[in-house]
Amino acid sequence: MTRRLYYDDSLLTEFDAMVTGCVRRGDSWACTLDRSAFYPTSGGQPHDTGTIACPDGHTCSVTDVECDRDGEVWHTISEEIPSGTKVRCVIDWERRRDHMEQHGGEHLLAGAVWRHLHGTTIGLHLGKEDSTIDVSFPDGRTHLTEEEITLLEKQVNSWIRLDAPVKCYFADPSEVPGIPLRKPPTVSENIRIVQYGDFEYCACGGTHPPRSGMIGQIKILSALPSKGKVRISFVCGERAEIRLHAGFQVLKALSDALSCHWADTPDAVRTLQERNEELAKEGVRKNEIIARYEAERACRDPVICGGKKIALVLLPLDDKKFLTRFAADEAARMDMIIFAALKPTDGVSFFCICRPDSAPVDLRKIIAPLKAKGGGREEMVQGTVPIDDIRTRLAGAFLDL
Ligand SMILES: [Zn+2]
Repeated sequence: MTRRLYYDDSLLTEFDAMVTGCVRRGDSWACTLDRSAFYPTSGGQPHDTGTIACPDGHTCSVTDVECDRDGEVWHTISEEIPSGTKVRCVIDWERRRDHMEQHGGEHLLAGAVWRHLHGTTIGLHLGKEDSTIDVSFPDGRTHLTEEEITLLEKQVNSWIRLDAPVKCYFADPSEVPGIPLRKPPTVSENIRIVQYGDFEYCACGGTHPPRSGMIGQIKILSALPSKGKVRISFVCGERAEIRLHAGFQVLKALSDALSCHWADTPDAVRTLQERNEELAKEGVRKNEIIARYEAERACRDPVICGGKKIALVLLPLDDKKFLTRFAADEAARMDMIIFAALKPTDGVSFFCICRPDSAPVDLRKIIAPLKAKGGGREEMVQGTVPIDDIRTRLAGAFLDL
């Protein structure tokens, strides 16, 4: 059975070991060692990576580490290393440190949720960018307030600043009931207790920093409902530093663009939104004035065909919703068939044609002669149409109606 060196020293990154077995696994190999500081994927924390070097200097990368049902740790490597080979192993420290920061922060966050809100943490997922825990509350709640999120974050960061010692040890089963664990152990033997200062006690087989200060800091990103629980997303350590730095750079760019202090950015954005809404309303009012003017002008000079009068209104606008409403309103107001089209793109315009009750023609019949694409009802048709020579084609389309 592999002796797990990380149980006693989570900072150990280089160690000597002997290969005790090596088997082929598809295109790669997996070996066991008599002793290993490589952490196998478990408890939501991903495995370590690193290298295993043979005495002849040949080095294999360790790309995966897993633990079998018997507790043996298997290291995935690209080549076979015969049993009995004495090897020198190196752990990728950056990856391990990052995992310990997230994992350690998770313990404190789960401890704070338990202490202040009586929530029980169900699981940890340590992702490539963010980590999450799912928390179940006695009252079944699925939300946290901003004040509660702030309380949790402050509590965890104050525990981190205490730089309290982190003690990891295997407890005798008879001792366990006397330890203030925030949740019962999931195993009945080899119970490993992890204790942060005197404020967080949990049974855990993971890698932990020797002191809480090494976690650096926590930033809670969100707390959202998830299958009857609350899923809290967070980052710790260097990830938190990077995230907060990036966030402040964005805030600084925004406050520079808005010429305000960074703390006033939300108010400045709100003011800008209100101004935009006013401008949009003003734009609609101006469009209506222009459109009404164009409609009246078109009604004075209609296309006349087969005893019908059609007002041809070309609007220098780009608002389909407005055009549809406008054509219907004007047809009723001016008591005339209104053909209205918007500013063309590549010679093609969006159009809408409406008729008043006094001109009972089926407007759907003009789509083909107009060379238009679209459809609608007897009294209203819309779509797209080539705009060149539209007056002539419009007259032709109404000839047979
Ligand atoms: Zn742990």
